[in-house]
Amino acid sequence: MYPTLGTDPERRAWIDATVKELAAFGERHRTELDIANRANKFPRELYGELGRLGYLGPLVPAEWGGLGGGVAEYAVISEEVGRHGLVSGQIAAQGQRWLLDWGTDEQKQRWLRGIATGEIVFSECISEKNAGSSFKAMKSTAVRDGGDWLLSGSKTHINLGADCDVTLFYALAEEGLTCFLVDMTRPGIRTHVTRAIGLRLIRTADVELDQVRVPDAARLGPVGGGLQTFLSTFNVSRLGNASELIGLGRRSLALALDYASTREVGDSVVTDFQGIQWTVADAWTALQAASLARDDAAVAHARGEDIALRTTTAKKLAIAAADQASEAAYSLVGGHGLYFDTPYTDILNDIKVLKVAGGSTEIMRNFIARRVLKDPGHEGLA
Ligand SMILES: Cc1cc2nc3c(=O)[nH]c(=O)nc-3n(C[C@H](O)[C@H](O)[C@H](O)COP(=O)(O)OP(=O)(O)OC[C@H]3O[C@@H](n4cnc5c(N)ncnc54)[C@H](O)[C@@H]3O)c2cc1C
Repeated sequence: MYPTLGTDPERRAWIDATVKELAAFGERHRTELDIANRANKFPRELYGELGRLGYLGPLVPAEWGGLGGGVAEYAVISEEVGRHGLVSGQIAAQGQRWLLDWGTDEQKQRWLRGIATGEIVFSECISEKNAGSSFKAMKSTAVRDGGDWLLSGSKTHINLGADCDVTLFYALAEEGLTCFLVDMTRPGIRTHVTRAIGLRLIRTADVELDQVRVPDAARLGPVGGGLQTFLSTFNVSRLGNASELIGLGRRSLALALDYASTREVGDSVVTDFQGIQWTVADAWTALQAASLARDDAAVAHARGEDIALRTTTAKKLAIAAADQASEAAYSLVGGHGLYFDTPYTDILNDIKVLKVAGGSTEIMRNFIARRVLKDPGHEGLA
């Protein structure tokens, strides 16, 4: 659903082609994707194929191997990935933003092209057992040793942590939070795959670094500038998360509608019941509202405006819409949806994860409240 983005005639043709190609990809690989998801396996081959088709580097200029698109293209690809249950490129997109915003030419040469084409798998090591929503309790350390750094710490919940070639590791240096691009072949790194309930195509892992030596050239951004590097990336990637949530909601509702519109109950089919029709109307409306907010943020980004409030609003609305669509799908399919290994359950679990990863609903609400309270005009209310 691209209520605003789809009205641009030039972009419309690209959207139509992308929608078609990603739908065909999903159809061609449905069985492999479902098997990998339920077995908690990262399908690197399929990920590579998405990269070769150009869908892993939407924000990267063509000279660096990417699509050369903007936030609008990133949003469309993310939504279609959710819509067809494909391997999420969110982590790769975040890596690209980090490198584009903060990377040196040498770092870009080494990592950016491969991440954009899917040949190099990226992960981000930020969260720890006692440091999730807040960085205050972060324990990982970065200690200078001659011209090098020694990195140590235990990270948890890391998507692709056990499958990646490079990770972005956040740690505390004397000057404050600092991040480093760590080649996963360096000695002193251990990973352990974990089993999250959702987004298992990009499975999670615990990642432990024990005195891992990296050169200063591996540092991304300024020493002590970790918060800046984090915020510059997450303001945009929040929109990818929102789009994937919208896509997941669409997938659940569309599959359920296909089923329910031929499911006979007594003398009717399920979609004849007015109570059911209202549920469908409410879920569609929520998805449309979230899509409008997401499109608005993408258009504002292209105009060069600050989009932090817009992307946060879009993610909050997308979480609610995906939840509502998934709930409506269960009303439409009844008991047949209430099993493991149905798309409805896979989607429900993916939504639960996206509600927390990349900034939880509560953190979105905190941010919006802060902005509304701080602004003398209360962000348009006054
Ligand atoms: C499947 C999965 C994949 C993930 N992938 C990655 C990854 O690749 N890399 C990475 O670094 N991290 C990753 N994360 C971690 C994710 O970013 C954190 O889980 C998230 O930031 C929340 O931290 P927490 O789970 O420690 O919750 P906590 O910070 O302990 O919070 C607990 C609850 O309190 C709420 N809360 C916290 N602060 C406030 C507040 N001020 N006001 C109101 N409510 C509040 C939270 O929303 C949450 O519901 C992933 C998590 C999951 C589950």
